[in-house]
Amino acid sequence: MKAHDGMYIDGDWRPPVGTGTIEVVNPADEQVIGLVPAGVAEDVDAAVAAARAAFPGWAATPPAGRAARIAALRDALAARRDEIAETVTAELGSPLGFAQKVHADLPIAVAGGYAELAATYAFEEKVGNSTVLHEPVGVVGAITPWNYPLHQIVAKVAAALAAGCTVVLKPAEDTPLVAQLFAEAVHEAGVPAGVFNLVTGLGPVAGQALAEHDGVDLVSFTGSTAVGRRIGAVAGGAVKRVALELGGKSANVILPSADLARAVSVGVANVFANSGQTCSAWTRILVDAARYDEAVELARQAAAKYVPGDPHDAASRLGPVVSARQRDRVRGYIEQGAAEGARIVAGGPEAPEGRETGYYVRPTVFADVTPEMTIAQEEIFGPVITILKYEDEDDAVRIANGTVYGLAGAVWSADEDEAVAFARRLETGQVDINGGRFNLLAPFGGYKQSGVGRELGAHGLTEYLQTKSLQF
Ligand code: NAP
Ligand code: MG
Repeated sequence: MKAHDGMYIDGDWRPPVGTGTIEVVNPADEQVIGLVPAGVAEDVDAAVAAARAAFPGWAATPPAGRAARIAALRDALAARRDEIAETVTAELGSPLGFAQKVHADLPIAVAGGYAELAATYAFEEKVGNSTVLHEPVGVVGAITPWNYPLHQIVAKVAAALAAGCTVVLKPAEDTPLVAQLFAEAVHEAGVPAGVFNLVTGLGPVAGQALAEHDGVDLVSFTGSTAVGRRIGAVAGGAVKRVALELGGKSANVILPSADLARAVSVGVANVFANSGQTCSAWTRILVDAARYDEAVELARQAAAKYVPGDPHDAASRLGPVVSARQRDRVRGYIEQGAAEGARIVAGGPEAPEGRETGYYVRPTVFADVTPEMTIAQEEIFGPVITILKYEDEDDAVRIANGTVYGLAGAVWSADEDEAVAFARRLETGQVDINGGRFNLLAPFGGYKQSGVGRELGAHGLTEYLQTKSLQF
């Protein structure tokens, strides 16, 4: 994988205005694997100008024409599936098998879904004596994180392009290489110049310039609640559309009739996938008092199977976390959990044995966690599971809803109706019933401080549309 030293602007790799560079580090061995330019406000200006200039033409392209280009983008990504997986493994540290099946195949499928939606979506509807036109919002500023780097890019860009919007992307500084690869795929797909533009750079510089830019009509951000809050405030001040996909602290609620072994093992896998760096991870397991000790023992046994290892080794189920900063942050939370009185039944804050190099964290399970503890309230974003005890169903609802977040969750029961009734009481954007599969057409997004707006499927498309009503 070769790093570009330019920005992809107006259909070409342009020399950056900013002279700084960002080192891309492999979190498994701490080696520098690439160097990308650190864009500045002038680079963002050039990219936004290109996106503005391209907007009228792209918006006027019939949906079938836009669909054809997105389908070509899907094909270009599919042709690079192995390169995508290798790149994400190298810059994020995700085990290669997971990188292939999730980091590559998921965005390829999402792109395919938006090609189909662009072709079939009703961009015009009749309401009484009105014809309602669903028109693109304009220029989109997309700011993405590093945890599912290509998926988060595609979820925004493919939806925006399907709607007829043009885009400037500022990807995470930790994972810019897969973003450059995406720009290459856009180019190969024959997407017209200026419709998609890439500015690599630092959040507080390039990201902030993009979020604040007058030429941007909609900011779509995925990342931390702290940054999302600021972006929302800036967008509100400018009366600009904004979509925010923020953090989570999702509950995995195991009702008394559920298959405990299955619920715990699926739940542990859910959290340890991607080294716990998943905004929708079910990081709180809720179990009834009668089966609490059994659940803790099952989780301890399940965690023992996740030995931190080289993400290139096919046997590794758990790679490092993305950066030294993230490792220190996660270990800090593990120390804090112990200090607040939770009991470590697996893992701990020390470096895993034999993994002193690389940003590895021991997969950790906490028992005796109470709802007000920091580790039960804050997003840790590492391989850390908390197990909480509930007294009855009302108590379980109270605990599950008792954080500022509301992104995802799970309910397990022998009786599906009971699980659905419980899910209706949860303040969260998604609930998986008895291990229901991820659906890339289902709206994804948060209640409460987990965000504003929805991504994926038709709901994700409508984020990039505004209506115009014609009366007859
Ligand atoms: P972050 O700072 O919110 O990063 C997300 C994106 O926003 C990155 O592209 C980042 O650029 C950019 N950014 C940062 N400051 C900005 C600003 N002032 N204006 C505009 N854009 C800005 O998140 P992080 O530092 O990577 O991770 C911190 C924590 O956030 C994690 O530990 C986790 O809890 C949470 N997180 C959540 C998600 C999620 O999917 N919900 C994803 C990632 C992280 P840089 O890459 O240059 O910082
Ligand atoms: Mg940051």
